[in-house]
Amino acid sequence: MTSRLLPHGEPAAYFTFPSLTAVGLPHVTTTRHCPGIVSFAEPIAPEAPRAPFRPEAAAVLGSAGLELGRVSYARQVHGADAAQAPARGGFAGSVDLLVTGERRVPLAIFTADCLAIVLYDPTAQVLGLAHVGWRGTVRGATQAAVRVVGELGARAGALRVAIAPSIGPCCYEVDEPVTTEFASAFGERWTAWARPSRPGHVMLDLWTANETLLTEAGVAPASVDNPRLCTACHPELLYSYRKGSRGRLVTVAALP
Ligand SMILES: [Zn+2]
Repeated sequence: MTSRLLPHGEPAAYFTFPSLTAVGLPHVTTTRHCPGIVSFAEPIAPEAPRAPFRPEAAAVLGSAGLELGRVSYARQVHGADAAQAPARGGFAGSVDLLVTGERRVPLAIFTADCLAIVLYDPTAQVLGLAHVGWRGTVRGATQAAVRVVGELGARAGALRVAIAPSIGPCCYEVDEPVTTEFASAFGERWTAWARPSRPGHVMLDLWTANETLLTEAGVAPASVDNPRLCTACHPELLYSYRKGSRGRLVTVAALP
């Protein structure tokens, strides 16, 4: 499913997904115009266990129904490990998957080209957020995300999934170190997610790859919302690490 993201503010400080709003999930993906979001110059680590938001962010995210006082976040390491968010929020560990069954505990995933994937079962009231780049895709982070929300009671067939703005196949050229890992993780079928560009290079489609992996894990194709908004194509609005940005976008969601 492809929907248009709904912008909030002028210029837009954040987007929401109409498909998630329709099922009552408070959430945002910020743009470069949202104040108070840490950049890559400020590492997220257990040694500095403060939430990676400055005070200016609280008002903006509060307007979306997200209470930053209980926000949970991780040191993201391009893996496939998960942590349950502490009930009071705070640092959840060095993981790329955050899950919760606790109401009003926002989960935050920071990106600048990688995919942030929201998984929500409105019936079971279980929420997961995943950080998935090419390494996470190869390591099975997407399938792991479906599995860990399942351990909290979510049914794959009931999940509503959204993929935040991230780098698209229009702009994501990779070469042999990456293609070798895809071939070893997925065999021949990874070539369906790539289009040759220059010799030794392909344009990689992480969107289609992860949509496929989600549906193979039992998510209904019509329940995967990907607006296909490319970070590298929209430097005036988004941050792209590939395009030299050191700022981060953040996707935040909380059970109502
Ligand atoms: Zn692009």
